[in-house]
Amino acid sequence: MLTEEKAFEIRENVARIRENMKDYPHVHIMAVIKTRTPEEINFAVRECGITLLGENRVQELLAHYDDLDHSAKLHFIGSLQKNKVKYIIDKVDMIESLDSLSLAAEIDKQAKKAGIKMPVLIELNIGREESKGGIFPEELPALCDALRAYESIVPSGLMTIAPICENKDDYNGYFSEMKRLLDTVFKVKFPESQHPILSMGMSGSFHEALQNGTDIIRIGEGIFGKRGEPYKKI
Ligand SMILES: *Cc1c(COP(=O)(O)O)cnc(C)c1O
Repeated sequence: MLTEEKAFEIRENVARIRENMKDYPHVHIMAVIKTRTPEEINFAVRECGITLLGENRVQELLAHYDDLDHSAKLHFIGSLQKNKVKYIIDKVDMIESLDSLSLAAEIDKQAKKAGIKMPVLIELNIGREESKGGIFPEELPALCDALRAYESIVPSGLMTIAPICENKDDYNGYFSEMKRLLDTVFKVKFPESQHPILSMGMSGSFHEALQNGTDIIRIGEGIFGKRGEPYKKI
């Protein structure tokens, strides 16, 4: 069910975010769909021009999947256990949360089995928070080198979930560091990569991410409103 109020809210929210992105025409808005109903998600795709969706839990991705409008691309953005890769490999267009070599090996194996090449972003724990996934910046060069061994993975850029900052200006430090890592490490390790992607900035930080050169902003509550319980298909 999609109430008229909710539809209005989603439409207004997307319009307002677009207004803020006028100076950044190349940037993609990802609608982060955890806890949302297929009706809400498909409204964003069909009526608001959203072309990219992000899901961060395998179970919800599977619950959503059959009812989603597949004209939008779908990226996996959450922490991913190796034994779950096989469930999503043929359903997502990119995995943005690669944070270990063993996960890379499993993605490579399952992609090969499925006969595809899977684009991946390397996730960085840029704020060095214990609660967060991602590698530390000093681990990036070695992980890039090691990824060369995997033929069914396409390293495509970097992703981060920045710490929550009370002072919005502090986001600039994290995001400019991500941009620096993309330019001085990722692009050097993968000179053949055509358009390396930065995925950073969420509802509370997308302005700062735009200013620091992001390519994807990942917005959940800023589009759909406050989150409730995980979505379960009845
Ligand atoms: C939930 C989530 C987002 C969006 O968060 P909001 O604060 O709702 O915009 C972005 N990225 C990841 C990885 C998420 O899990």
